[in-house]
Amino acid sequence: MTTMSQPTGIPARTRPRSLSGMQPTSDSLHIGNYLGALVNWVDLQESYDAFYFVADLHALTVPTDPEVLRRRTRVTAAQFIAGGVDPQRSAVFCQSHLPQHAELAWVMNCLTAFGEAGRMTQFKDKTAKGQQANVGLFTYPMLMAADILIYDADKVPVGEDQRQHLEITRDLAMRFNQRYGQTLVVPEPHILKETAKVMELTDPTSKMSGTNSPEAGLVLLSDDPKRIVKKIKSAVTDAEREIRYDPERKPGVANLLVMESALTGVPIPTLEAGYAGKGYGDLKSQVAEVTVAAVRPFQERMKELLDDPAELDRILASGAQRAGAVSAATMDRVKERIGLLRPA
Ligand code: ATP
Ligand code: MG
Repeated sequence: MTTMSQPTGIPARTRPRSLSGMQPTSDSLHIGNYLGALVNWVDLQESYDAFYFVADLHALTVPTDPEVLRRRTRVTAAQFIAGGVDPQRSAVFCQSHLPQHAELAWVMNCLTAFGEAGRMTQFKDKTAKGQQANVGLFTYPMLMAADILIYDADKVPVGEDQRQHLEITRDLAMRFNQRYGQTLVVPEPHILKETAKVMELTDPTSKMSGTNSPEAGLVLLSDDPKRIVKKIKSAVTDAEREIRYDPERKPGVANLLVMESALTGVPIPTLEAGYAGKGYGDLKSQVAEVTVAAVRPFQERMKELLDDPAELDRILASGAQRAGAVSAATMDRVKERIGLLRPA
């Protein structure tokens, strides 16, 4: 079901393809990763040929102890599966297992104007928050473009924070096709309105981030339930009393409503009506309760997976095999088009 506008020369497929990744940059994924991305990944498996990877190359933009990175990589993969990604149906793999990600990223770097890269807000946000500005962090969007384009992905489910990176990916694919002829699939962004952007509990004007948020500002999917309750009860709100959704004036309260709505499926206006006459304590208790209820079964499954690392590694190997068949073919096509002499 490739769309009519897609380039010829791309192998025919029976189902459209979706692709997404997450970085192993903290000891666990957080509730923002889960509500903003992972729940969609799970849904997309129904109608898409899905590719889900642990973005360990992207994680190198943050200097990390090698053993810690390896451990976090397995944890992230286990969390994809614990969250409902089915490795029988979807390819689950590590970005670094397929060399074509880094190879195509170089080609993307050479297509990107310096000023264009300089306009990427994630780089500005992360460095403003004190993250060390290495060149890898600066060229992160070009590696992300490669991740997407190497799999001819039609749909890329990501949180709102990644919208600009998807736009540059589309621009780069179109630029490549213009310069070298129809070669790359131009992906559609898949940012659902109801996919929550979750904010830090300690500073609800900042995005909850595995790399940049303080521990108290994050709800980690591996947090002990007691810890989750404690963190949510300490969430920063405001000096008023009224529970209403107003992200500008009441970002803390709005964030809690977003979380509750995303976790329960109840629309925000219905939640607001239910809280009439109640206080912030009630809101926090309720959000804590639904969060713990969602996280409990997830943690049981995660533990089973991490107790058998050999099996987890086999899953990743089989995912890499499936992904590699696609990424190698795309890279061949790209090399041919841009005029790299192929080895005899
Ligand atoms: P970092 O801060 O290091 O960039 P992250 O927490 O943003 O880490 P990523 O691995 O960059 O995590 O993102 C994985 C997925 O989770 C992406 O699709 C991203 O859009 C989504 N995501 C990340 N943070 C949030 C958030 N606070 N709310 C909603 N979605 C989010
Ligand atoms: Mg991020």
